[in-house]
Amino acid sequence: MTEFQRIILVHYHEIGLKGRNRSTFEMRLLKNLEALLAPFPVVTIHRIAGRLCVFLREGCDWETAKGAADLTAEVPGVARVSCGFKCERDLDAMSQAALAAMAEAGEFSTFKVAARRNHTDFATGSMEMNKIIGGALCEACPDKGVRMKNPDVTVGVEVVQNASYVYARSVPGVGGLPVGSSGKVVCLLSSGIDSPVATWKLARRGAVCIGVHFSGRPQTSDASEYLVDDIAQVLERTGCIARVYTVPFGDCQRKIALTVPPELRVIMYRRLMFKVAEEIARREGAGALVTGESLGQVASQTLDNIRCTDAAVELPVFRPLIGTDKIEIIGEAGRLGTFEISSQDAPDCCTLFMPRAPETHAKLPVVLEAESALPVERWVGELVGAGEVRDYACPAYKPKNERR
Ligand code: ATP
Ligand code: MG
Repeated sequence: MTEFQRIILVHYHEIGLKGRNRSTFEMRLLKNLEALLAPFPVVTIHRIAGRLCVFLREGCDWETAKGAADLTAEVPGVARVSCGFKCERDLDAMSQAALAAMAEAGEFSTFKVAARRNHTDFATGSMEMNKIIGGALCEACPDKGVRMKNPDVTVGVEVVQNASYVYARSVPGVGGLPVGSSGKVVCLLSSGIDSPVATWKLARRGAVCIGVHFSGRPQTSDASEYLVDDIAQVLERTGCIARVYTVPFGDCQRKIALTVPPELRVIMYRRLMFKVAEEIARREGAGALVTGESLGQVASQTLDNIRCTDAAVELPVFRPLIGTDKIEIIGEAGRLGTFEISSQDAPDCCTLFMPRAPETHAKLPVVLEAESALPVERWVGELVGAGEVRDYACPAYKPKNERR
């Protein structure tokens, strides 16, 4: 059998493009995929007829192609991914390529052919192509049945200007928008279960995500920092995190614990975290903060306390998990691949100097009064200065004020 060039067709939801500059979106997705697929034998990626086509090097085997397709499906902005072959505009070649593609579509019993001509200079119409290629497939695979409504597998055939593309295995993608099409945000990233999921959700909506992790150092070990690095490495596979600032927070927590009434400690820690994150956002040119909070989950996540922490900053604070149950978040963390990492125990600043009975209904004037005893402005400068930065592969990341 002729060896056809392997391709991966990348589909995106056009509905998400309404009112947006479509070609900017496509170029962003193309650039992201080029960089993220670097470990795979990719020749080039082109735009063809409302989708992207990844061309794989000659001799690329099925396992490698499948690996590239599965990674592509996880990249924000991708709605569906199909695996197949490029071949000549010749019905025999298309039938053979269709057969080869179908052989890699997994277990199934019914199929149909869906052919399209993007160029009417190809003499055979789509109905005719369906019949001819479908006939050839039936002949070669007598155990498979044709079914027009809800077949197990749809064999796609697209004839373009000087080639045709044939594919069968098709998997849904994560959807959303390409990272880099919605600005930049700063995500408060603990080593817990929730904040990696919250970060990923913003990345899936197209935001470039910068993480800020508050470690309990020097009052605790640096164990949480290693977990956050592992989490960031999971997120970076699909371009969902650009960098992480690690801020040693233990000494400030100790000073807060010594100064303010015990029940207000947690709110003070959190207000300070937000202010540090806001300063990092200013330096990065980011437009919002993101946390993994969910309403009522713990003492700091009551409405009153959320109001008191929000009042510490001017930037909007996004909480994409606010209405989500823990069990759902755990499911998402499992799919994302961060759950196992987050389930490991590491002391971070969350466990440090915790009061026995934290305030659940803080009043802002009381909080501000207590906070006025602390040199907050100076601390923010010192903490940001002490932050260590680690970069991750995010093709869409641009430092502030620099244009590519
Ligand atoms: P998570 O699972 O993300 O740790 P949580 O359920 O443990 O969340 P909290 O500890 O109250 O809840 O934290 C709420 C949010 O505050 C987190 O989702 C995260 O965005 C932020 N946060 C908490 N601790 C830290 C930290 N050490 N560094 C950075 N952000 C943090
Ligand atoms: Mg936590």
